[in-house]
Amino acid sequence: MSEPLVMPVPPVKECSLQAVAVLGFSADGSALTVLNASDEYLHFWGGERDQWLGASPKLVGCDIENRKLMRKLCRALVKGEMSDGYSLYGLDKSSWPLSAHQAPMLIEWRVTAMTMPGYAQRVLVLVQRDISKRVEKEAELERLATTDMLTGLYNRARFDRLLRTELRRRHRYVRPFSLIMLDIDFFKKINDSHGHDVGDQVLAKLGQLLIQNLRKVDYCARWGGEEFMILAPETSLEQAVQLAEKIRCCVSQTRFPEAGQVTVSLGVVEARLNETQKSVMKRVDDALYTAKEQGRDRVSY
Ligand code: GH3
Ligand code: MG
Ligand code: MG
Repeated sequence: MSEPLVMPVPPVKECSLQAVAVLGFSADGSALTVLNASDEYLHFWGGERDQWLGASPKLVGCDIENRKLMRKLCRALVKGEMSDGYSLYGLDKSSWPLSAHQAPMLIEWRVTAMTMPGYAQRVLVLVQRDISKRVEKEAELERLATTDMLTGLYNRARFDRLLRTELRRRHRYVRPFSLIMLDIDFFKKINDSHGHDVGDQVLAKLGQLLIQNLRKVDYCARWGGEEFMILAPETSLEQAVQLAEKIRCCVSQTRFPEAGQVTVSLGVVEARLNETQKSVMKRVDDALYTAKEQGRDRVSY
């Protein structure tokens, strides 16, 4: 049934990451073959054009999934559903690269039925686009939007969302979690005596100390200027107070470059069942305030 390849495939820019192939059905409608393919298609899947013409197409990387999709297309043809504009779309996450030299790809694909001049029968046009770079870029933007640049910790907006999620989990599954709010004592003095840059270094080093003292499942954020928040899942008040005390000791025993000894005050609360975000935040803030009132360099709960 294959017609001579009079129609070139739609032109694509040389460096474009979009592959195009024209596919046709066998006479009995039981198989699909490649009628034409762009250079990018060959780049995606390897091999020479001659090897692909008349061969079974690659819609996605996984062979089982690929066969399933082709069966689906053939069924649609047999059932008479294959009119112009019929289309299938998907995201191919199957593992690549094909060779060690090729970077892994994430391919967005679409196959659309259409009548094209130069082809006696209706064809399917397959378009595949490598979107791995775009996805990477989006992940980087997401990271920038949720990270505090100075400390590398989560920022306030991200922590806010985390807290909301953990509160829901708390209510639904009745699992405990605790919050610790930490504030550097007399931080203004550090800035005033040593300069803002030294103050920044203290913040960055404190961020590292917190990470070192927390579990991988704990969340830590820079809440504001010299305030930090820790959310410890599956942690009772008693355990969180121990953690806060450990952090307090570690900070007061650390020598910060130029600033020397730095102390912190910490407030600790365990979230109550059905407690609102506002309420738990107020309680932890009050606990921190009490620690300050009682003389700083201490834990209050
Ligand atoms: P307290 O013990 O009561 O917490 O006293 P404090 O001096 O730590 O608190 P205060 O709120 O008076 O001062 C906080 C200071 O933190 C003031 C502000 O200039 C400084 N600050 C806020 N953000 C930054 C920052 O990103 N870098 C630096 N170096 N300083 C900051
Ligand atoms: Mg403060
Ligand atoms: Mg302070």
